[in-house]
Amino acid sequence: MARPQKSRKVSNPPVMKGFKPYGMPACQAKPLTLKFEEYESIRLVNYNDMSQDQAAELMNISRPTFTRIYNKALKVIARSLVEGKAIKIEGGNYELDKEWYRCRKCYKLIQGLENHTKCKDCPNFGEEELIRLS
Ligand SMILES: [Zn+2]
Repeated sequence: MARPQKSRKVSNPPVMKGFKPYGMPACQAKPLTLKFEEYESIRLVNYNDMSQDQAAELMNISRPTFTRIYNKALKVIARSLVEGKAIKIEGGNYELDKEWYRCRKCYKLIQGLENHTKCKDCPNFGEEELIRLS
């Protein structure tokens, strides 16, 4: 039986649901999946210029676990780039440190309880239009 995995802390969910390659015929192949914690590892190290040690600490995981997640993320991105495959960012074993919602209409991310009753950019849409991410 597999050891239960500790959930990884994710501070910022991605602003989009994934990527599609440009200049490829309509993708019939199954998209690759980038898990939320894999996305977060790239965001922390390559976007925020953190060391892997800092990033591991922030995500509340060990350095070897972080490195495994990070290498997996790089592999997914490399496969997408080389094979021209779409990426879906979803799933994983993670915990968002704040409440996040996504507007179904404009896909905007909305953070926190005080802001979640509706999307400011879509005034005609109410609470039912928000998808809870955490
Ligand atoms: Zn909206």
